[in-house]
Amino acid sequence: MSETVELSIVVPVYNEEENIQPLYDELKPVLDKLRQRYEVIFIDDGSTDESFSELEKLHQRDERVRVIKFRRNFGQTPAISAGFKNSLGEVIITLDADLQNDPRDIPRLLEEIRKGYDVVSGWRRDRKDPFLTKKIPSRISNSLAKKLTGLNINDFGCTLKAYRREAVKDLELYGEMHRYVPALVSWRGFRVGEIKVKHHERKYGATKYNIWRLLKGFLDLLNIKFWVKYSTRPLHFFGTLGVLMSSLGFLIDAYMVYLKIFHDQPIGDRPLLILGMLLIIVGVQFITFGLLSEILTRIYYSNKHVYEIEETLK
Ligand code: UDP
Ligand code: MG
Repeated sequence: MSETVELSIVVPVYNEEENIQPLYDELKPVLDKLRQRYEVIFIDDGSTDESFSELEKLHQRDERVRVIKFRRNFGQTPAISAGFKNSLGEVIITLDADLQNDPRDIPRLLEEIRKGYDVVSGWRRDRKDPFLTKKIPSRISNSLAKKLTGLNINDFGCTLKAYRREAVKDLELYGEMHRYVPALVSWRGFRVGEIKVKHHERKYGATKYNIWRLLKGFLDLLNIKFWVKYSTRPLHFFGTLGVLMSSLGFLIDAYMVYLKIFHDQPIGDRPLLILGMLLIIVGVQFITFGLLSEILTRIYYSNKHVYEIEETLK
């Protein structure tokens, strides 16, 4: 069946033993009704419960169920990345294993893809999660993400998303970056859409994240912002900072010299003198740093290109 798969469902699994069978039971009728050749790929992200043997059981009964087992817990992003790399479908849909996403939203996601979107993101409009530990942090991180990435979607954190293979096939994901795939691909020129999806409370098992995710997610966001804006020209970022700082330092110290020479004032104990020197030194370091980053960029892009071709007429 391998070459002819049209749709791949990718599900990251970390200690979800009670959820696997019910999820499969919800997924199967939805997928069968689509009349597309599909596969379901579960990535067991180092579960320490019976998740893997549950998955094995499914795989034995249904040849469309494939399972990838990680040696240890690497995290949801690596799990999703492994799913992307190992799936065969033209369209890939990711969803959580914990039944919080609803497989019945899949046909609507596919409809949007057919309309011409390359990525369609789910928006958990009526989110069924604790207010203080989930909804508030997610509101903060979503508005930050919206501002920083410039992508106008409301729910970066929802795993239920559909992707055209083309859009994600050469993405290198790490950290907590699976959330920002829409931003990364939209920057490369792909079309990103959003639809409202259902969300349910977690019935079995526990959430794998605590409040620290907010901080990690924020750092990943900074990383993506920098990457999107400056990865091909880091000197513009570091160099601008450096030149501004050095110039300010130079002006300050020139003023000090002026006081010394023309007004005969002692300047040895003036904090301004030290500030000026500090700014000059840090500024020069920023410029050097920028130059070094340019060398790294050159190495990074030596076997890649910075543009995306949609089509070529020959
Ligand atoms: N997950 C994973 N590896 C991890 C953490 C989570 O594969 O290290 C999976 C988890 O099994 C679930 C999905 O990622 O299918 C989302 O996790 P969770 O439900 O804990 O997140 P929440 O919904 O609480 O934000
Ligand atoms: Mg969940």
